Amino acid sequence: MAGFRLSMRAIERGEKPRRARVPKIVKPPRPLSKLRQRGYPKDWAKISRRVRFDRAKGICEQCGKRHGEIVYQGPQGSWQREGQWFSERGEALEKPPPWPSRQWWDHLRHYCEPPRIRRVKVILHTAHLDHNPRNCADANLAALCQQCHLRYDVDLHRWTWGVNRDLARGQRVAFR
Ligand SMILES: [Zn+2]
Repeated sequence: MAGFRLSMRAIERGEKPRRARVPKIVKPPRPLSKLRQRGYPKDWAKISRRVRFDRAKGICEQCGKRHGEIVYQGPQGSWQREGQWFSERGEALEKPPPWPSRQWWDHLRHYCEPPRIRRVKVILHTAHLDHNPRNCADANLAALCQQCHLRYDVDLHRWTWGVNRDLARGQRVAFR
């Protein structure tokens, strides 16, 4: 109100009223996305798309599954397309390999049922071979389906699971 009264007085005096000062709004910087916080470059989506669909033509570079197709996932990374079994390396197989005994029992213990062959939709990922998201050189990237990616990173995941388990239990993180 004071501003209005001052302007009216200025007008009565025959002066041009001064414009009120508006404080400049300073926007806080936008927080980095989760991927950027983990060290992925800004154009990661573009790099990933180029590796998966231009370089690998939408086919897993390890086992040969196609992006978006539906396959049957068996033991030891084996998989089936239209009745034909393939190994984790993409070689044709007569029949699927057996479940490793340890894996079979662990599955039974955790899920109260033996492991089964599962129908899965293939999604291609772009994997970092040295596990460093900052290193996006072509030789360090591979287009892998979700099973091959998990198998490639499983040691790293086991380590992370162990640390997170210790943290969740409120224990000191064991030295690994
Ligand atoms: Zn694969």
